[in-house]
Amino acid sequence: MRRRAWLDSPTMNVSTPTQFREKIRFLAQFKQRPLTLRQIYEFGLKRSAEILLQEAQFLHQELRVRLAHRVRDLETLPFGLSEMPSVQLLREMYSGSLMDLVEFPRPESNRDEERFTELLENIKQRHNNVVSIMSRGILELKEMLGPDALQPEIREFLDRFYLSRIGIRMLIGQHLALHAEPRPGYVGLICSKCCPAEVLEEATRNAQSLCDFHYGASPSVRVMGNVALTFTYIPSHLHHMLFELLKNSMRAVVELNGADSPSLPEIRVAIARGQEDVTIKISDEGGGIPRSGVARIWTYLYTTARPTTIELNSPYQSDFHAPMAGLGYGLPISRLYARYFGGDLQVISMEGFGTDAYLHLKRLGDEKEVVPRTLH
Ligand code: ATP
Ligand code: MG
Repeated sequence: MRRRAWLDSPTMNVSTPTQFREKIRFLAQFKQRPLTLRQIYEFGLKRSAEILLQEAQFLHQELRVRLAHRVRDLETLPFGLSEMPSVQLLREMYSGSLMDLVEFPRPESNRDEERFTELLENIKQRHNNVVSIMSRGILELKEMLGPDALQPEIREFLDRFYLSRIGIRMLIGQHLALHAEPRPGYVGLICSKCCPAEVLEEATRNAQSLCDFHYGASPSVRVMGNVALTFTYIPSHLHHMLFELLKNSMRAVVELNGADSPSLPEIRVAIARGQEDVTIKISDEGGGIPRSGVARIWTYLYTTARPTTIELNSPYQSDFHAPMAGLGYGLPISRLYARYFGGDLQVISMEGFGTDAYLHLKRLGDEKEVVPRTLH
């Protein structure tokens, strides 16, 4: 995690809005520096006050560059999206965090590092509801533009925006977690013995209780294949993806068969370990997705959930609140989590029968974070 001296020089005064905009433009010229899962893991493994300071110094530079890219992106969106009130709110939020980072001098001592960590905690909290706010902006845009809101440019922008958010939150979350009490097997957020079968068990419990709450019934889940498999990964990311996939499958199964069906067909999950990938396949008999819909499941706007189930009353609503289905975000965001460290998510449907989702994750952690660039 070497220093990039050029980021601090020339020192730019940012006391006026024009100077700050200049600074943002300056920072956004620089490339973001993706890390591999293994680098993040090994760095954290040596945890000490010295390592935490080095990491803080790296974040102090890197987060400024990453946030500057996002502010620039938010300023230059097509179809009037940059003018939507929710998008302006987000731009203020990102600019505010960037300003905090720009005004914070490079941490040089352990005391600085502690103060910098407090700042990171505040930034992370400030951005908790970003997905809800952005999805509100997209809904407003959809109302205004109709089907034009489905333009590929919008989807590409949202992919960049959310993928970058995953990366920023991962780096901040990792630094914060290294300050917390160490958990056995974990280095910060990363677990060297992440066991898909175990994560699946928890995701199943959570999805089932949500499904029971919404429908009064839920299908069971059978796990096959390499249930003993462990690899180095971020369990919270894996949980997010499995939970979304299971919610979709459970909803489809219950809606197809009816909650009062005497026997709901079970959902089958297979776990496999390859040379390159860990693959998890989730198969349901929920009737599948019509072929005309399959092309749109990654668009952030495609959902077959009834509007009454959309729970978006306040732009400040927490992202942690989970309806069974609602926005059409579950699949695209899960695919970004998978892609963040070089994996992927595919959904194959057999209309009239069911759906198979294939979640591929890199087994060795050598893949760099995918960090989207701004196009400007
Ligand atoms: P949420 O954002 O809460 O997840 P959602 O479930 O509607 O809302 P996605 O998870 O992205 O959004 O799924 C989009 C749509 O794809 C769903 O509304 C549903 O119509 C279809 N779909 C996804 N998975 C399945 C499945 N296993 N079986 C049938 N249809 C599915
Ligand atoms: Mg969903």
